Amino acid sequence: GASFAAELHEVSKRYPGGVTAVDGLSLRVREGEVLGFLGPNGAGKTTTMRMLVGLVRPSAGRIRVLGQPPGRQLARIGALIESPTFYPHLTGRDNLRLAARYAGVPDAAADRVLDQVGLSSRAGSPFRTYSLGMKQRLGVAAALLKDPSLLILDEPTNGLDPAGVAEMRELLRSLGQHGQTVLLSSHVLAEVEQVCDRIAVIDRGRLVAEGTPDELRGALGTGVLLIDAD
Ligand code: ATP
Repeated sequence: GASFAAELHEVSKRYPGGVTAVDGLSLRVREGEVLGFLGPNGAGKTTTMRMLVGLVRPSAGRIRVLGQPPGRQLARIGALIESPTFYPHLTGRDNLRLAARYAGVPDAAADRVLDQVGLSSRAGSPFRTYSLGMKQRLGVAAALLKDPSLLILDEPTNGLDPAGVAEMRELLRSLGQHGQTVLLSSHVLAEVEQVCDRIAVIDRGRLVAEGTPDELRGALGTGVLLIDAD
């Protein structure tokens, strides 16, 4: 098996039209870690995540996900990259049962993941009654349906109010404590640093810093990296 859940080696992505979204990026997600992927808007985080799941082809470089090229291990990857489609008038549970069928897993998985994300008590309420934070956690639940070896979450705290951020942080912390491997993007360090084992900082498609949250704090303290600001 692979010792890294995901590896990028000098990966670049140049979109037609000339934007170099990712520029020689090397990055490794270790098995069992929560890796924060931090960077301002437009830094290339979403493009990187799309490349990992095989939605976007790199222009250069080498990618391995769970030991294979992107796209080969999709049954073992859970991703929340785009907003998932949930039916507003269906309950959270029924939405997840539908998603379970699409994912080819038993209905019972829906209840397991609702519990994991702390939505059991609201599972019988229509999706439209959920707060934004609850909607986001339902998205994480959908990404967990396959009990994935790698969970990829693109800015799950984006747009949430402080209570929603706190609940998402609690969820991410509990996933990490249970050994879930997570690649987690954010543009706000303060929203994710408490749940990350390590953080990789990307700007203009390039890796600009990498380390534990404590190590990163040191770098931030120098004023070199100004990513705390929204
Ligand atoms: P955000 O937080 O805003 O989602 P990001 O870090 O995820 O930012 P990307 O979405 O990967 O960054 O975008 C990186 C760069 O690539 C940006 O300049 C963006 O405009 C550009 N880009 C993204 N997708 C495309 C596309 N399909 N075609 C052309 N350019 C694109």
